[in-house]
Amino acid sequence: MSFQNPVFIPGPTNMPEAIRKACDMPTIDHRSPLFGKILHPARAGVKEILKSQTAEIFIFPSTGTGGWETALTNTLSAGDTVLAARNGMFSHRWIDMCQRHGLNVQIVETPWGQGIPADRYAEALAADKEHKIKAVLATHNETATGVKSDIAAVRAAMDSANHPALLFVDGVSSIASMDFQFDTWGVDVAVAGSQKGFMLPAGLAILGFSPKAVAATRTAQLPRTFFDINDMTKGYANNAYPYTPAVGLMNGLLLATETLLKEGMDNVFARHHRIAAGVRAAVDAWGLNLCAATPDLYSDTVSAIVTPEGFNATSIVTHAADKYGVAFGVGLGEVAGKVFRIGHLGSLTDVMTLSGLATAEMCMVDLGLDIQLGSGVAAAQDYYRNSTGLALKDAA
Ligand SMILES: *Cc1c(COP(=O)(O)O)cnc(C)c1O
Repeated sequence: MSFQNPVFIPGPTNMPEAIRKACDMPTIDHRSPLFGKILHPARAGVKEILKSQTAEIFIFPSTGTGGWETALTNTLSAGDTVLAARNGMFSHRWIDMCQRHGLNVQIVETPWGQGIPADRYAEALAADKEHKIKAVLATHNETATGVKSDIAAVRAAMDSANHPALLFVDGVSSIASMDFQFDTWGVDVAVAGSQKGFMLPAGLAILGFSPKAVAATRTAQLPRTFFDINDMTKGYANNAYPYTPAVGLMNGLLLATETLLKEGMDNVFARHHRIAAGVRAAVDAWGLNLCAATPDLYSDTVSAIVTPEGFNATSIVTHAADKYGVAFGVGLGEVAGKVFRIGHLGSLTDVMTLSGLATAEMCMVDLGLDIQLGSGVAAAQDYYRNSTGLALKDAA
């Protein structure tokens, strides 16, 4: 692996130098007003990125997976029913976590490559007259398949059934890269992690809780200690944590939120869309398809590219690392060996992306696929030259 090349995995993402440096700081007293000057503005920045007026922001020294656990254990009790679609590895793992916590998961099995079927959620919710379903889970962006789901449609399904369940959204690979509307979508818990759209090292679980979700902690019986949001709230009131916070990462998060908000979230989303559209132009020129079934499902943060029958897609990833020092993502679970993934989120420019596409082409040709060198790169170049979308001219 080369430290000079960008990575094209869908997290951890490339880090802007200034944000990386912001994580490297001297020891400070983590129970002092000085820490408060990092903690509170970082939380305010996250809240603005979530487009929320009302969310309580919690930041744990953890990862996205810990964020899932925070959502569940603070709001639910063993035996509660939750509704969840399984359409990829990440939604699968969240379901698995629910089951290990003794929750009863009503699983909506969904083909990998499809989004959350809001109509089937609507049916399940309408049929649940006794309101046994306490929470509805939605993975906004299935990182395994490169599929974006329509969270507004999930909320509409809940509203049409007049259902009081909480709405939990995994936004680990969408928040800070793709539009996320906490308040408008009526999200109750949003889960993010530091190492994707926030362009930081792994190590923080970042969450927003609605007032309704905070209130659910009063009846929720699942055991929780490390991830207890009420302990966290008490700590925050004293510029502190119930334990030792990851101060350097928090300082990085503060700069990351400032950097994103300065670029402007609409510009951040436009940049991700533009870069993704160039990648998709390349995939099309290669004569390959995405795992995502239809264009409305295409993720702007990761593309899972299906390789021809009989070809092991993972060999592209291994070869890229061995020969060119470049990282792509392997296929996970059901699509292992069938897809390879290009992560295109976080700190990335058109020019960086072109280098990844060129590398993918070299690998595919090296491994005997019938691909014309330069074909995908040319298609992306053409798109980037002519696109009026924003480029990242003033990249951090
Ligand atoms: C990366 C990811 C996770 C897991 O996050 P970790 O930080 O690895 O624990 C969960 N959900 C989605 C959609 C992800 O992309």
